[in-house]
Amino acid sequence: MNNLYTFMKVFHFKDKIDSLPEFVDSILAPIHIRIKPTNVCNHNCWYCAYKADNLHLGKDMQKNSFIPREKMFEIIDDLVEIGVKAVSFSGGGEPFCYPYLLDAVKRLSKSFIKFASLTNGSKLEGEIAEMFSQYGTWLRISIDGWDDDSYSAYRGVSKNEFNKVIKNMENFKKLGGDCYLGVSLIVDNKNYPYVYELLVKFKDIGVDSVKVSACIVSEDVLENNRYHKPFFDKVKEQIYKAKKDFKEQKFEIFDAYHELSEKFQKDYNWCPYLQTLPVIGADLNIYPCQDKAYDLETGLIGSIKDRRFKDFWFSDKDKFFKINPMKHCNHHCVANMKNKLILDYLNTDEKHLDFV
Ligand code: SF4
Repeated sequence: MNNLYTFMKVFHFKDKIDSLPEFVDSILAPIHIRIKPTNVCNHNCWYCAYKADNLHLGKDMQKNSFIPREKMFEIIDDLVEIGVKAVSFSGGGEPFCYPYLLDAVKRLSKSFIKFASLTNGSKLEGEIAEMFSQYGTWLRISIDGWDDDSYSAYRGVSKNEFNKVIKNMENFKKLGGDCYLGVSLIVDNKNYPYVYELLVKFKDIGVDSVKVSACIVSEDVLENNRYHKPFFDKVKEQIYKAKKDFKEQKFEIFDAYHELSEKFQKDYNWCPYLQTLPVIGADLNIYPCQDKAYDLETGLIGSIKDRRFKDFWFSDKDKFFKINPMKHCNHHCVANMKNKLILDYLNTDEKHLDFV
């Protein structure tokens, strides 16, 4: 299996990268768009970044917002027309709680746009599961608890939900198709002893890949690291053992569990990535990324409430440069490394290019 998780994907789109700077006249379509179809969720995870009071993310989120059906169709038609290559659904809320998700993916399945979704997996059944198995590119299920009791405690859901999610995943794999089934395993100070056990479980039910990440508990880097320090090595040992034990098998473990080594401060004044993977919120605002979603003060690019996405996107370029990461993004940023690589690429001195 080639790398699913890599910072380098964007470099396969050279025209797009070259179009990004402010002084270049052209605007090209985003490569990938993340859509938050609804802010309604049927789980209540204690660490959810959109709900935690100590994280800025989601601070202006209205929890009942959702994209009206006709507007969703209009958005999809625009994305097809302008040549967006991929759409992924995420929260805000739980995408599978969106009443028109099936309609949306049916429409996408008739286009060349690849689609995917993050989900808690509780509603991964019936026709929507079949649509994803047949036409989707990937699904990623977020999991934290290691059994029914712990899962209920993490998410404020009734007993048997964990078993249901595992069963849904098993059934999904039995449907066949090419859709990758991934898991996002969020590690905290309760589930860390169960990392290996969970990895075995996921492998046994046919999951294709697992991303192991640290639960973010604060916007302060040192506070996060202090939280994970007591069990950090134990988690690493389990990931290492699982990678070794399953090395010959078609099962990817992506180790994203690490100390936050760099400060959240940014040293660049424009964000290249927001033109490649913007977010459409359930409130029909356009945000630069998932770390700025529902932050109206420092994260708003504009709104498509009263206009079409295609008209908004190509209307002017200034809107992409309103956000100054040096000033506005001194918090976790999912695209920081990608931004740095793109800026490094764009800032290469042309006169010296040939001296590779
Ligand atoms: S948080 Fe990162 S990706 Fe989002 S706008 Fe700031 S620099 Fe760009």
